[in-house]
Amino acid sequence: MLDGAMLERLRTGLTQQQADLHREIEGYGADPGSDDVTFDADAGFSDRSHSTEERARVIAVVRALRSNLHDVDRALAKMDAGTYGTCERCGGPIAEERLEAIPWALLCIDCKKLAG
Ligand SMILES: [Zn+2]
Repeated sequence: MLDGAMLERLRTGLTQQQADLHREIEGYGADPGSDDVTFDADAGFSDRSHSTEERARVIAVVRALRSNLHDVDRALAKMDAGTYGTCERCGGPIAEERLEAIPWALLCIDCKKLAG
C-alpha cells in the first residue's frame, strides 16, 4: 500500500514529466493534445532544409513522447480515481521500486514482461 507522502512525491514527478513532455512535443512544432503527427506550417520544423529522413525521425520521436504523455496522463487520472499503483492487466499491486523508477508505469513487472 502506497503511503500519502510517497503518492504526493510521485504526483509531483508525474506533473513535472507531463510539463516536460508538453514542452518537448511543442518544441518539435507538434500538438501534444492531438494524435496526428502533423506540423504547424509556421514552425521551424517545416523548413525545407529538413530531409525526409530527418522528418521521419522527428515523427518517431514525437510519437514516443506522446505515448509517454498518454501514460503520464493516465497515471495522474488513476491517482485521482484512487486506483494508482494497481496493475491494469492483472489488478495486482505494482512494486513501489518500480513506481519510484517509472511513476507512469501502468503494469506490474510480470505483466510488462508478458506484454513485451
Ligand atoms: Zn500485472
